Amino acid sequence: MGAQLIERASPATPSEQRAQLDFREACKAAVRVFQLSEKYKTAPYPNAYAVWFAYSTKADAGLVAEIDELLLGQDAISSYDIELLFQAYLAQEQTVFATHDISQAIGDEIEEVLSVIGSSLQQNTSFTDTLSTLETTLPKASSPEELSSLVSGLIAENRRMSAVTLELNQGLARSQGLITTLSEQLDEVRTQSLRDPLTSIPNRRAFDKTLQEVMEHATRTREPLCVAMADLDHFKALNDTHGHQAGDIVLQNFARLISASADEPRMVARYGGEEFAIIFPGSDLMTAYNRLVSIKHMLSKTVHQAEAGAAPLPMVTASFGVAKFVPGMTAREVLQKADASLYDAKGKGRNRVCAPGIG
Ligand code: GH3
Ligand code: MG
Ligand code: MG
Repeated sequence: MGAQLIERASPATPSEQRAQLDFREACKAAVRVFQLSEKYKTAPYPNAYAVWFAYSTKADAGLVAEIDELLLGQDAISSYDIELLFQAYLAQEQTVFATHDISQAIGDEIEEVLSVIGSSLQQNTSFTDTLSTLETTLPKASSPEELSSLVSGLIAENRRMSAVTLELNQGLARSQGLITTLSEQLDEVRTQSLRDPLTSIPNRRAFDKTLQEVMEHATRTREPLCVAMADLDHFKALNDTHGHQAGDIVLQNFARLISASADEPRMVARYGGEEFAIIFPGSDLMTAYNRLVSIKHMLSKTVHQAEAGAAPLPMVTASFGVAKFVPGMTAREVLQKADASLYDAKGKGRNRVCAPGIG
């Protein structure tokens, strides 16, 4: 009893204090999550909870900045935006966990293989010992009976050894199959983490990575490079009038159209809700501008159907902004420049392409 009292009165160790603090902080953050969910009208389903939690604990400066920007002048955040934020900033963590689990399973399997090989090597050593014993005892066998018993011993040992070898082979084949499956799963998780699930084209994370690479290449080689942003016009109205499923089909059609129409090498990504980003490596501003004009034209001619047999949806258009990368610019700067041109295109009436000094 007394001991318990003393135990309770003793101060918590630093790690206990940290754990208590983490727990208290997590509880406080949880309260803020529900306040934010209520204020911005998002149901606290798991991904939304994760986004608000990361926001209220300021876990990622990019996520905080993006939410703050979204909240300017708005009193609600759509579930799409929440999902996109989750995909952009938090899904990676899940990939890390999944990758870790699979890597762990591969590691375990390799350990298993090594131990099977180790035990087989031991068996092999005992087989070699038996053989060398026989090598010396066989010539000395004094009677046919003794010889026959030594030979049957040898046959038995041989059988045992071939059983061990068979077992080893089967075990190794099983392990090889399992390791192959796990490696495929690992590749799949890595690929999925870079794709947008709705349109199957690369997502923002993949885009940011590629943009960084092509910018470095352009800086090194002094080859031209342009980056464009495209945004569907009045897309909210399309969703509101024809439903989200119709909106999803349009997003898929647009993704397919831009992916198919830009020349290689290039990258098209779904950057955010109804916003797409395109990289034109090796293209000057005029070439990129002309390609975008042709994409814009093709989109306005595309017939979209919410489902087979349904009446076509009204014409869908998009606005485009394109900017030229100049060595020394950061990715953020070049994207902001493309975004500013996109903003111009919206301001000038939509369904158009704008570029600094061109249109
Ligand atoms: P603007 O011409 O100025 O771009 O107007 P807008 O209506 O296209 O732009 P706004 O930002 O007001 O609305 C974007 C809409 O895109 C709101 C959101 O519901 C919708 N959206 C975002 N992601 C998706 C999605 O994955 N599927 C569907 N169906 N709609 C989406
Ligand atoms: Mg739009
Ligand atoms: Mg938009």
